Amino acid sequence: MKTVNHWIGGKTVEGTSGNYGPVTDPATGAVTTQVALASLEEVDAAVAAAKDAYATWGTSSLAARTAVLFRYRALLDARRDDIAALITAEHGKVHSDALGEVARGLEIVELACGITTQLKGELSTQVSSRVDVSSIRQSLGVVAGITPFNFPAMVPMWMFPLAIACGNTFVLKPSEKDPSAANLLAELAAEAGLPDGVLNVLHGDKVAVDGLLNHPDVAAVSFVGSTPIARYIHTTASANGKRVQALGGAKNHMLVLPDADLDAAADAAVSAAYGSAGERCMAISAVVAVGAIGDELVARIKERAEKIKIGPGNDPTSEMGPLITAAHRDKVASYVTGAAAQGADVVLDGTGYTVDGFQDGHWIGLSLLDHVSTDSDAYKDEIFGPVLCVLRAETYEEGVALMNASPFGNGTAIFTRDGGAARRFQLEIEAGMVGVNVPIPVPVGYHSFGGWKDSLFGDHHIYGNDGVHFYTRGKVVTTRWPDPADAPAGVDLGFPR
Ligand code: NAD
Repeated sequence: MKTVNHWIGGKTVEGTSGNYGPVTDPATGAVTTQVALASLEEVDAAVAAAKDAYATWGTSSLAARTAVLFRYRALLDARRDDIAALITAEHGKVHSDALGEVARGLEIVELACGITTQLKGELSTQVSSRVDVSSIRQSLGVVAGITPFNFPAMVPMWMFPLAIACGNTFVLKPSEKDPSAANLLAELAAEAGLPDGVLNVLHGDKVAVDGLLNHPDVAAVSFVGSTPIARYIHTTASANGKRVQALGGAKNHMLVLPDADLDAAADAAVSAAYGSAGERCMAISAVVAVGAIGDELVARIKERAEKIKIGPGNDPTSEMGPLITAAHRDKVASYVTGAAAQGADVVLDGTGYTVDGFQDGHWIGLSLLDHVSTDSDAYKDEIFGPVLCVLRAETYEEGVALMNASPFGNGTAIFTRDGGAARRFQLEIEAGMVGVNVPIPVPVGYHSFGGWKDSLFGDHHIYGNDGVHFYTRGKVVTTRWPDPADAPAGVDLGFPR
């Protein structure tokens, strides 16, 4: 069986805790790999390597840093297929979707290649007699990143390229469910010339996470994962005096107004609800149909959903793969089996689905629940599977009120041909990322990604300008250089008037 070890100080370091976690191929259900789970001593070793590297990387020139990043970008580009294959083998998503994940991660590496522009400070000359003021931004030190299973390459790449471009060093703690992609990302960074210790990958579970949250040499923590853990990370890291951004879970709603192009809306709902088997934090999991269009919209969604081909992610004809674990599949199924008792019409029931020749895979089919009530479990919880809930609203106002009552506020979308309604929606909806006729409005790399309410704890969204701000701290320098001809200013105990 393959073993995934840590990557510390520029080399593979075997786990010494004696603890390993199983990594499963979700399409076959077979345990293919074991991943080392770090002890507190191993956390110390990773942080120490990052701290040592910071002594030189933190003062390296911008040109030296970007030279590495440009080479890294080229290597990642050349190895897209290999990274995607690792993702599919451990996450289960189809290869084309895994390639999309790599592409979105690459965007942030490209953003980091332009860090020279992003880190330019500001200068005001002659703010007072012979006085100039400049604002600069400086790195923080050692940054920890803790990432979820559903994007094992992209989410780490949301974090470390910008963090290291800003002059920090990084300890990445990937999900223990699909750990291999992170090691390849680190190996390629080393091949690109990244000095040893600038990027470390420490595998582990709660022990490793808590070790990082409590470590005095970790200056900041970026987290992406579920809401309960995000809240815990934010509270714990903040209490330990660290800067923290913690992105959490979601229940993303799509509002469909009566004037919308219903075919476009149905296409978008199916793509956004069932892509990656619904294991996306930006998946649409609730459609709110406004007015009398509900039945027709549900019919068009059903017609499309029934045609989706489910199968192993490495089969090019598969459109949707399995779920990450059998336990998660069973939990997702329980929402569908419990939905009717809580008042929903089960239009499509994906439970009990299997794929020929892959009986032990973590399969579930597509489920579509109509007339879902806002107090049902299927609506209230983030299911994180291929289950789409449809709710009805009489008016735009009723739909927006329903959506704004959700504790989550990650992404959202409106489908309409009415520009005025769309504009109003942008201003009134309580979510961090809004799509207008775009179901999954993930911001491009040079804007920032983040939700509101229980979908993000902290002040900074991730990547884009917010990312640069998160990974640096500001400093303002006020300078007086008297002209050689000036007389001494003399003592003055007051503020300048
Ligand atoms: P998770 O919260 O279970 O795990 C995330 C990370 O936290 C992993 O590295 C894991 O090892 C660690 N962790 C888990 N339990 C812990 C504990 N008790 N103490 C300390 N650390 C712990 O999330 P997941 O199941 O891997 O990922 C799916 C979730 O992530 C979904 O809720 C999804 O919405 C969310 N997500 C959010 C975004 C976003 O941008 N907002 C993006 C991707 C995924």
